[in-house]
Amino acid sequence: MINIQGLHKSYKLGKTSFEVLKGIDLTISQGEFVSIMGSSGSGKSTLLNILGILDNYDEGSYTLNGLLIDRNLSPKQAAQLRNRFLGFCFQSFNLLSFKNAADNVALPLYYQKVGRKERLKKAHEYLEKVGLLPWANHMPAELSGGQKQRVAIARALIGQPKVIFADEPTGALDTTTSYEIMSLFREVNQQGITVVIVTHEDDISKMTQRIIRLKDGRIMNT
Ligand code: ADP
Ligand code: MG
Repeated sequence: MINIQGLHKSYKLGKTSFEVLKGIDLTISQGEFVSIMGSSGSGKSTLLNILGILDNYDEGSYTLNGLLIDRNLSPKQAAQLRNRFLGFCFQSFNLLSFKNAADNVALPLYYQKVGRKERLKKAHEYLEKVGLLPWANHMPAELSGGQKQRVAIARALIGQPKVIFADEPTGALDTTTSYEIMSLFREVNQQGITVVIVTHEDDISKMTQRIIRLKDGRIMNT
């Protein structure tokens, strides 16, 4: 599903450049449930953003679902690939505060030009899958952190992605709620979707099938 070889990424800081990823080789098979672990600043988000085609890389190769992801894709091509294959969840949920739960879940379908009635029908279906149907008409401010992340997961699922990328999805949640959200990711994975979770928490990574450890821009051999 995912294959990267010799991946490098630097950030420019004025005239100097700072190398964050120093040659990463990584394969993630279809249907895997993996975590990317590492301390703060180790490059986890940088790697996830490249895998999620949210950012480009400097050197190496990236293949997603058999497609070579060129490092010079246009923003439009990148968006099309994301819409076709990928779903995202973030630590801060990234919900639109002025839209209710159902409209937030329906958002990817809006960009795919699906009609409003059909969008909302699907959004309700996906809210039901994450146990939040009764909250469909509530605004994000009326939801707990765990409920907001469920909305975000429903939004990630509605486009029927092949892979879900989650960057510290439990980082803003208490332990009990974190475990509930991880159980939900496990259920999502059991339906055949590849799930990649970035975390710096040991107990969270232990709930996945495989832990990929990043240190100083490289993957550690374990
Ligand atoms: P992590 O997610 O593991 O905490 P990041 O991938 O966010 O790590 O960051 C890795 C390193 O790259 C950090 O030192 C960070 O300061 C730096 N960095 C991240 N994004 C940028 C950026 N857009 N510009 C410059 N430096 C960045
Ligand atoms: Mg990060």
